[in-house]
Amino acid sequence: MKYDVVIIGAGPGGIYAAYELMQKNSDLKVAVFEAGNTLERRKCPIDGDKVPTCIHCKTCAIMNGFGGAGAFSDGKYNITNDFGGTLYEYIGRDKANKLMEYVDDINMENGGEGTKMYSTAGSKFKTICMQNGLTLLNARVRHLGTDVNYIVLQNLLEKLSKKVDFFFNTPIETIEALDDGYRVHHKNGVDEAKYCIVSVGRSGSKWMEKVCKDLDIETTSNRVDIGVRVEIPSEIFEHITDELYEGKITYRTKKFEDKVRTFCMNPHGIVVNENTNGIVTVNGHSFEDEKMKTNNTNFALLVAKHFSEPFKDSNGYGESIVRLSNMLGGGVILQRFGDLERGRRSTQKRIDEGTVRPTLKATPGDLSLVLPKRILDGIVEMIYALDKIAPGMANDDTLLYGVEVKFYNMEVKLDETLQPANHRNLYIIGDGSGVTHSLSHASASGVYVADEILEK
Ligand SMILES: Cc1cc2nc3c(=O)[nH]c(=O)nc-3n(C[C@H](O)[C@H](O)[C@H](O)COP(=O)(O)OP(=O)(O)OC[C@H]3O[C@@H](n4cnc5c(N)ncnc54)[C@H](O)[C@@H]3O)c2cc1C
Repeated sequence: MKYDVVIIGAGPGGIYAAYELMQKNSDLKVAVFEAGNTLERRKCPIDGDKVPTCIHCKTCAIMNGFGGAGAFSDGKYNITNDFGGTLYEYIGRDKANKLMEYVDDINMENGGEGTKMYSTAGSKFKTICMQNGLTLLNARVRHLGTDVNYIVLQNLLEKLSKKVDFFFNTPIETIEALDDGYRVHHKNGVDEAKYCIVSVGRSGSKWMEKVCKDLDIETTSNRVDIGVRVEIPSEIFEHITDELYEGKITYRTKKFEDKVRTFCMNPHGIVVNENTNGIVTVNGHSFEDEKMKTNNTNFALLVAKHFSEPFKDSNGYGESIVRLSNMLGGGVILQRFGDLERGRRSTQKRIDEGTVRPTLKATPGDLSLVLPKRILDGIVEMIYALDKIAPGMANDDTLLYGVEVKFYNMEVKLDETLQPANHRNLYIIGDGSGVTHSLSHASASGVYVADEILEK
């Protein structure tokens, strides 16, 4: 066989697996196949001018390519078992924490030094949240910022390229199990290796389902999180973001006892479009560079929806809601909270008259025509709950962008070494496995399986 290890996907899972293999045994022959482009060629054509909205490129420059979905992310590196995935259920809390710390050290050696680590430990906001029916989750978070995150990736790619064979724009079509290894099929032919690491992230979720079917690997799927991205003047949340950078806050609604949570907080950031499998959702970024900072803070409010039998297609449900918003708004819909509460659509005039300047050009409209009542009620309840700890949150001019959806990959049934029971030496990691949903957990899962392979 030409390779010892074949890695599918160059997102955080694939990158840190390759980095660990390269650092610990430079004799190993490792190949990484990636559906998207190398880092510097990743350019989203949307320029807000000639190309105002998504033109559905063959591979999405935001989601695919070296760095994966995290390449242009805000680079919030959370060291916690409270959210971001369930890696700890497989490998133990201690080990998961140690591996996240280990990857943080790698990032610091590769351009991340000097970035700030925030922590909820000893924060007064824990009590304030509790007193108002909210829960602040425990975490330490390193804020790399979109700019420093990119530099770290550049440095890792430079080092890796000396030892590892990269094949960009080369999606793996199928994985074939051999007697003592795996054969991967791609547009240029086939390659074989004894060990195969699959780390295809959220964008590879449909493909992953097919692989599991082909290789008879068990899966489950029943969750999707649906909601909006909120944009407010940064002063409203400054007392929290200055101390914690990101407050991960959860709330249990009174009406339906659903769980609503804040997600991906971007102080002084911007709201952006995100293209997932051809549908346009909303997301957010922020920057370390002072010059790039805005006057607004944005974050998502998401309601978790778990389905029970016989319905299995939770992602399909989320996609249908996004499609509806895309149909009505031609992309993302924007509404003032005051308009939502008065039961009327937002218009460009009302947005222009408001005090919050939107950082994303989106279509003024009515989110109540898109979001199911149960989800919308949950979001409104949470806005009023947050208003108690951050007065101003429920102002009329608070902006809501929809739809934001957090798709969960189906969960692949894996053992404690992240291998399916019926295929040895096949490791399924990162967001594509359903085990992780974050940079830190995905990266840690990569290091973990690399160490397993090195031991073998
Ligand atoms: C806009 C945005 C902002 C985010 N911000 C944060 C944040 O601040 N903090 C945080 O913790 N998380 C954040 N996340 C989530 C985080 O990026 C992901 O959890 C993480 O990237 C998952 O890593 P991964 O390696 O599992 O998958 P991905 O990063 O999705 O990488 C998978 C790679 O596999 C490739 N691929 C897919 N199918 C194939 C195939 N068949 N053959 C070859 N290659 C294939 C894809 O092109 C992709 O590059 C953000 C996500 C987005 C989209």
